[in-house]
Amino acid sequence: MYIHIPFCAVRCHYCDFNTYAGLEKYFEPYADAVREEIRQAAEEYGRLPIQTIFIGGGTPTVLRPDQLGGILAACREHFAVAPDAEITSEANPGTVDQAHFTALRALGVNRLSMGVQSFDEAELKWLGRIHSAGEAEQAFDAARAAGFTNINLDFIFGLPGQAPGAWARTLERAVGLGPEHLSLYSLTVEAGTPLADSVRRGRVPAPDDDLAADLYLASQDLLAAHGYAQYEISNWAKDASHQCRHNLVYWRDEAYLGFGAGAHSYARDRRWWNVRPVPQYIQRINAGKPAVSGQETVGRRLEMGETMMLGLRLVLEGVGESGFRARFGVSLDEAFGEELAALTARGLIERLPARVRLTAEGRLLGNRVFAEFLPEE
Ligand code: SF4
Repeated sequence: MYIHIPFCAVRCHYCDFNTYAGLEKYFEPYADAVREEIRQAAEEYGRLPIQTIFIGGGTPTVLRPDQLGGILAACREHFAVAPDAEITSEANPGTVDQAHFTALRALGVNRLSMGVQSFDEAELKWLGRIHSAGEAEQAFDAARAAGFTNINLDFIFGLPGQAPGAWARTLERAVGLGPEHLSLYSLTVEAGTPLADSVRRGRVPAPDDDLAADLYLASQDLLAAHGYAQYEISNWAKDASHQCRHNLVYWRDEAYLGFGAGAHSYARDRRWWNVRPVPQYIQRINAGKPAVSGQETVGRRLEMGETMMLGLRLVLEGVGESGFRARFGVSLDEAFGEELAALTARGLIERLPARVRLTAEGRLLGNRVFAEFLPEE
């Protein structure tokens, strides 16, 4: 289950997520609406077993713990949430203290994902973050003190003109804290964001792909030297037990239900998504109407392509031959023989006896590799 909390204290200029600042008046009715949507879904689909819950956003921690608690209680009341389910909440260091973390822990949240982004004060300012480097460290310590033993930290690299030394210092400071998991994303200019506008007007240089590639390679070396294993293009874990189980569902192209404004769901041959604006979402739910605003059929050819695109993101696991055959009734070669041969010849994919996966070079050119498997529009 994914639960979307579309609220932030302020909007960061690079962010294109469905999230809003200044909507505090909707916090309570929104939490009520999400609980009702969960109830409605159980009525429609039955009491499905749930292995992971991810509360994302936005900034879930702008809600009071009792508001998040009500949502989690609805999950447990209407779905068969496994006793050992991974329950993650995203958290923004500028919005939480130890009491808040303790309350989340008491609600059964057992994994935290904190958006730190940088430990360089000038970079944090450029990104428009509401916390300092020191506050991010304090938030991490507070989460530990509250009993969290599974913490992810998110970082962004490839800021215009970012010095390799500054990025290395951020990563060194991150591993010094000893998080179980790290997610590193290169800065991308998303259409419609204030950042895209600044780049278009020439006020901010566009991110440099070569710089991003250099920083990515340096990150791989530095994190490996500190004992972190890369298991996905953008994700590292201290050991396999701390890989993000929720995100593995996406990368393995498995089914999920999303709740909240703009949330997406996927099951069998169908993908559907909710209306994005918060007021409309609440109105629809309160009127007893579905919040769904669109859907599409995922045909077999598209499903096979997406299984490749998502599975290849898993840099160790890749796409397994037996799993692919069990799901689609054909071998990888029967489905994608030509594409696999061409990508292998270009050194972007490696074929192991039981699976295919990206090579080191393929990790740098992932998007080009993935495009080969998707049907042409
Ligand atoms: S805090 Fe996160 S979700 Fe909110 S605007 Fe910034 S980047 Fe986007």
